[in-house]
Amino acid sequence: MTITRFAPSPTGYLHIGGLRTALYSYLWAKKNGGKFLLRIEDTDLKRNSIEATKAIENAFEWVGLKHDEKIVYQSQRFDIYKKYIQQLLDEDKAYYCYMSKEELDKLRESQMAKKQRPRYDNRYRDFSGTIPKDIKPVIRIKTPIGKTIEFDDGIKGKISVKVDDVMDDFIIARSDMSPTYNFVVAIDDALMGITDVIRGDDHLSNTPKQIVVYNALGFKLPNFYHVPMILNPSGKKLSKRDGAMDVMEYKNMGYMPEALLNFLVRLGWSYGDQEIFSMDEMLSLFDPHDINKSASAYNSEKLQWLNAHYIKNAPTKRIIKDLEFFELKIIDHDQKELLVDALKSRAKTLKEFALMAKSILFDPTEYDQKAIKKFLNEDSLQILQNFTKFLKSLNKTPHLPIEFEEIVKEFLQKNELKMKQLAQPLRIAMVGSAVSPSVYDVMSIIKLENIIKRVEKLLMEHQ
Ligand code: GLU
Repeated sequence: MTITRFAPSPTGYLHIGGLRTALYSYLWAKKNGGKFLLRIEDTDLKRNSIEATKAIENAFEWVGLKHDEKIVYQSQRFDIYKKYIQQLLDEDKAYYCYMSKEELDKLRESQMAKKQRPRYDNRYRDFSGTIPKDIKPVIRIKTPIGKTIEFDDGIKGKISVKVDDVMDDFIIARSDMSPTYNFVVAIDDALMGITDVIRGDDHLSNTPKQIVVYNALGFKLPNFYHVPMILNPSGKKLSKRDGAMDVMEYKNMGYMPEALLNFLVRLGWSYGDQEIFSMDEMLSLFDPHDINKSASAYNSEKLQWLNAHYIKNAPTKRIIKDLEFFELKIIDHDQKELLVDALKSRAKTLKEFALMAKSILFDPTEYDQKAIKKFLNEDSLQILQNFTKFLKSLNKTPHLPIEFEEIVKEFLQKNELKMKQLAQPLRIAMVGSAVSPSVYDVMSIIKLENIIKRVEKLLMEHQ
């Protein structure tokens, strides 16, 4: 069974790069009928916060990636790590190192002066001399000196590193006996039964050390996939300004989770030139072996394009519910379907959708001055004046867009006017600007009485 995991350190929010590796891990597990687990790497008690853990959980809930089983918290597993530290000591695969910080600094300085890579010289490995007093030792693991560590990365291919080039006998427990990062990651992945580790390639240099731990403890190695980073359009590390922000910020900006996931799956993976992927399609088509070998570039226009696509195709009910997040409740409006349909293909984000909807539902509080300059003059004001008179003289109340269309056409014909002479001034009166969906749809949503009221308000302010 394929078991994957996402293992964030809760030092901040869930970032979109993290969400992408989580998505890849989720898809790969679910595609194979396996499990996707969540582990919170909260051993750094100073830097971690409960709020950050909560924020990560909220983000997962919003995008709808459900993890299996209970969340594993590293901070609750110190006893397990202790047991394995003891096991390695007992088996002579790890040892106490009494080197003081001053000694280590001195060693580093002399190595650097000789242009050598600074490293611990393994001096307490198989040490038989007198143990220095007053030094709280650390525990180091015996690395396979002189050997080569090799593994097949599912994305990068064969990785081969000489132990002596990349590590010394590294610390597995600090002097306060707290275990170190690479040690606990390897233990957790092994004990959680993780078969496939999919993570950012910023962790590639940790993998050989983790393999040393796996081997020392006799654990079976998982498959590794190191995913190249997401860069900004100019090829630099993604910054906050480029989009490297809290996943929940995307919710605040009005993105739909489907659009974000679709965007992320394509950032670094492709299937022919297909751009739109439903969750079902992602599940059937995704394979981490097809992840690109090179970094991918964040493209905010693509995200907007995808979001517009998902808004356009979302069921009306869903949009109505989502709009509540943007403080717009239209569930009781008798023309809610018409309103949503009219805006579905115009809004790139739900936030924009809510703004547009509000501009139709509520009387304008201000007018777009550019539009006023362009479209309001003596003639157009006169047309609006006549139009209200005409609306007031109607002996039946129109409701449907088609009824409004008939009325407008009748008015235009009687007054020998063209639609464009009425449309923009009328839009400005109704929604405050010259951009809106079909005038007839808007009229039908606003209703006769309010149209008259809004036109009269504009006329009063521009007399
Ligand atoms: N906790 C690590 C991070 O947040 C991820 C560790 C891993 O995936 O192995 O970057």
